[in-house]
Amino acid sequence: MSQPHRSGIPMVVCAPSGAGKTTLCKRLLEEFPRMVLSVSCTTRAPRPGETGGRDYEFIGKDEFMQRRNAGFFAEWAEVHGKFYGTPLEPTWKLLSSGQDVLFDIDVQGASQIRSSLPGARLIFILPPSLDALEHRLRARGTEEEKDLHIRLSAAAKELSQAHWFDSWIINEDIERAFRELCAAYIAATLTPARRPGFLADLLSRWAADAH
Ligand code: 5GP
Repeated sequence: MSQPHRSGIPMVVCAPSGAGKTTLCKRLLEEFPRMVLSVSCTTRAPRPGETGGRDYEFIGKDEFMQRRNAGFFAEWAEVHGKFYGTPLEPTWKLLSSGQDVLFDIDVQGASQIRSSLPGARLIFILPPSLDALEHRLRARGTEEEKDLHIRLSAAAKELSQAHWFDSWIINEDIERAFRELCAAYIAATLTPARRPGFLADLLSRWAADAH
């Protein structure tokens, strides 16, 4: 019997910059091959080690605005003075082919995905304290002092939106935070909606065995 179609799980992960989101998302993608990363477009410059098409599609502001006006994005936002957007078509293709999709986006984007993709799981990764956040951002050393201040002042604003997310993961210990992220994802895969036909199939086989 052919398996009924299971659509993919949209899983949105948000966190203030420096909370450890990138590391956690990377590990989640390595652990679960059914999950793929949604590759966003951005107007910010690539950081050392980043590759266009894998980490982001790096585009100019004019190109971004043209795409935005043409309805290219499932959601978009201005974050820390740069534009970011999730392409709509690849997202639909992935989800409808049954792939689970990880969206590493900010809270403005999460709010748009929440309205447009019912069934999305929304995870917020919190730092244990604002001091810890600042310490991690400085240790990362990827931002100039000016950008670092923009990101820190944005953090409190982002945290004030955490209340409407489905799960909170406090990243004090990375191993524990990773286990909790896996647990949140696994829980989403266990709902009846993600196992279409399973119960009907089980019951029909049971009935057949009884005869
Ligand atoms: P970064 O510049 O550090 O890679 O990302 C800055 C912030 O923008 C992060 O919170 C990241 O999750 C968010 N971001 C990345 N891609 C998108 C996107 O497509 N849409 C939105 N709304 N935010 C994004």
